[in-house]
Amino acid sequence: MKSFKLPESVVKAAKKIDYKLYKALLLEYGKRGEKAFFYLRDRNIKKYRDFFVVIGKHEYIVDNNFCTCRDFQFNLKAKKPCAHIIAVKTAKLMHCYDEYDTYYIDYMVGEWRKRK
Ligand SMILES: [Zn+2]
Repeated sequence: MKSFKLPESVVKAAKKIDYKLYKALLLEYGKRGEKAFFYLRDRNIKKYRDFFVVIGKHEYIVDNNFCTCRDFQFNLKAKKPCAHIIAVKTAKLMHCYDEYDTYYIDYMVGEWRKRK
């Protein structure tokens, strides 16, 4: 599987959630970088024991270089990182995520049970 490394400009800017980081992400990734920045700013990145999850219109499961969103699978054909992967990679550098000491799979099963 392809691995998506963050470019130097983003790594350098990943110190604070500020305009510098916004600009680096936008220049490198365009609209997807911009979206990634807003996920970071709004703290929509959650770390479970098994996966990272990004909260957007839906919840997207990110596993290193894979994401469950349509953009990644259909538009990008898993060749380039989507906004969620960019967000998670940047969040990891900055330790900017909420951490849950539980498995996302268990959490999902709980949610399904509640709906019944
Ligand atoms: Zn995605």
